[in-house]
Amino acid sequence: MEKKNLAGLTRNGHASGNARSAKVHNAQQRVHDAMNRGEIKKPSKCSRCGKSGKLEASHNSYSDRLNITWLCPSCHRKDNKKKPKS
Ligand SMILES: [Zn+2]
Repeated sequence: MEKKNLAGLTRNGHASGNARSAKVHNAQQRVHDAMNRGEIKKPSKCSRCGKSGKLEASHNSYSDRLNITWLCPSCHRKDNKKKPKS
């Protein structure tokens, strides 16, 4: 049973691309910290299409981790596709 679970790890992206996912996680953590300190505020609407609901922080730059745009999940997905992988 455990062997089966281990084999599945790579398929959901957990074991692959480690460096990049760790970077993303760290950036999201920084956003949460900043929000808790009141340094940044989460708007109620997507800053691209104006849709209200669940918003995600889209990082414009990983070197400036608080330089973020708030996007709905669908705009965020489109945005990530456009970005170069480097
Ligand atoms: Zn949107």
